[in-house]
Amino acid sequence: MPDTPFDLVVLGAGPGGYIAAIRAAQLGMRVACVEKEDALGGTCLRVGCIPSKALLDSSELYHQMLHKASLHGFTVENIGVDVSAMLRRKDEVVTGLTRGVEGLFKKNQIEWIRGFGRLASDDSISVEGSEGSRAIRADNILIASGSVPVELPFLPFDHERIIDSTVALSISEVPEHLVVVGGGVIGLELGSVWLRLGAKVTVLEAMPTILPGMDGEVVKQASRIFKKQGFHIQTGAKVTGATRDGDRVTVDVEGAESIHADYLLVAVGRRAYTEEMGFEDAGIRMERGVIQVDERYHTGVGNIYAIGDAIGGRMLAHKAEEEGIAAVEFMAGKQGHVNYDAVANVVYTWPEIASVGKSEEELKEAGIEYRVGKFPWAANGRAKAMAEADGMVKILADASTDRLLGVHILGPRASDLIAEAAVAVEFEGSAEDIARSVHAHPTLPEAMKEAALAVDGRAIHF
Ligand code: FAD
Ligand code: NAD
Repeated sequence: MPDTPFDLVVLGAGPGGYIAAIRAAQLGMRVACVEKEDALGGTCLRVGCIPSKALLDSSELYHQMLHKASLHGFTVENIGVDVSAMLRRKDEVVTGLTRGVEGLFKKNQIEWIRGFGRLASDDSISVEGSEGSRAIRADNILIASGSVPVELPFLPFDHERIIDSTVALSISEVPEHLVVVGGGVIGLELGSVWLRLGAKVTVLEAMPTILPGMDGEVVKQASRIFKKQGFHIQTGAKVTGATRDGDRVTVDVEGAESIHADYLLVAVGRRAYTEEMGFEDAGIRMERGVIQVDERYHTGVGNIYAIGDAIGGRMLAHKAEEEGIAAVEFMAGKQGHVNYDAVANVVYTWPEIASVGKSEEELKEAGIEYRVGKFPWAANGRAKAMAEADGMVKILADASTDRLLGVHILGPRASDLIAEAAVAVEFEGSAEDIARSVHAHPTLPEAMKEAALAVDGRAIHF
């Protein structure tokens, strides 16, 4: 018999699940969260957003010392790379944050139930842990089981030389030649880490461009910059297989010579992780492994809700977080809210790429009339002072109403700058709203104001 009645049991402690658990506790619910790993925080904190950004920041610092210091008048000698120290720092950042989530659970009296959870009925979860099994009953259940890397049948992971993103975050040496299958966000972010540290990096992308789906003009500029940085990018590449021989991997590409490498990272997307948890047996509707929910994140079965990577859509931590909060607010009889038009997308290369809203291609396809305003970093005083003049800010506004439809930034700290655009989109703002807002000088956000002025042909510095 189930032993403890909770108001809510959350299955999975990623950014979707743990944040939902905290919000539910704030709303007065008695909450438990089932997590099978030995740390809270999910893909994002353990093997995703946080460790990748720690390595990106470390490797960018190295790159700056190597290539930018002299520009600023500094002589820096004997710069070495200590990969184990860099990985240790990354692990410390991760541990600090995952322990922080444990602290938040304690503060909010959320019980972490350790082990693998399965739906036992529409109001209970059975958990297999190291200390045996336990049944948890709850008035509400929230599935936040997340996602895992896609494994291609002709490129099976051996987790040593043919690897997924998790292993690529802990390679103990700078690869001589890292081949990445997939020119998406993971390929370019983790490719950047090892490229900056001295590896040769080849990206094999099946589609005609890297980062398919992002604004075409931005991707074109970014590709040019990445190639200048040393990335070998082959688009339209059809990888047919790979063979391992000791520490070497040979990658076969249709119609081209085989490529020899010491590591092969396969980063061709992630898939919802939803198997062996009894979801289908409980009557939950699934489509190709993705849980189907309504606009309240309800699965249609009992009081079972689902959010985050497990329900598909864009696989982003902040999307999972917002859905978690909204789902719990719906459970509590409140009006949950996620504005998918205002969810920013960021690629943490350098320069960074960030966007919110539609690309030019999407607007054309939808037949929406728009005006474009662009402003290059080369004309922004602060970017010049930082010696960061590559890229631009591009704003797409409705031709008749001036409402913001899309904002795309390729440039320094684009990840931070996009927040202004996301807020403006949330407030249903116009290009003129941004153009009229006073931006401090000299700052990077001034480029946003100038791009907004450019929508109306009024940019001052370009
Ligand atoms: P997850 O974070 O996957 O969490 C699911 C949790 O559920 C896991 O902890 C899992 O162990 C647990 N679980 C699953 N099934 C069970 C079960 N049966 N019993 C017990 N526990 C279970 N997104 C961004 O927005 N920004 C980034 O910079 C970014 N960088 C990334 C970098 C990498 C290398 C990767 C791989 C991903 C990155 N992402 C990034 C994506 C982001 O990590 C995910 O979108 C996000 O973690 C999804 O959150 P979630 O809560 O839905 O699932
Ligand atoms: P992705 O979807 O971003 O990119 C996968 C790429 O692989 C695509 O360009 C696709 O065309 C290509 N591809 C697919 N099959 C291929 C094949 N057989 N050969 C060559 N190329 C092939 O996926 P990802 O980079 O693996 O990342 C997974 C998800 O994790 C992302 O979609 C994103 O949601 C999330 N993520 C986000 C961030 C961030 O927000 N900065 C960072 C990392 C991961």
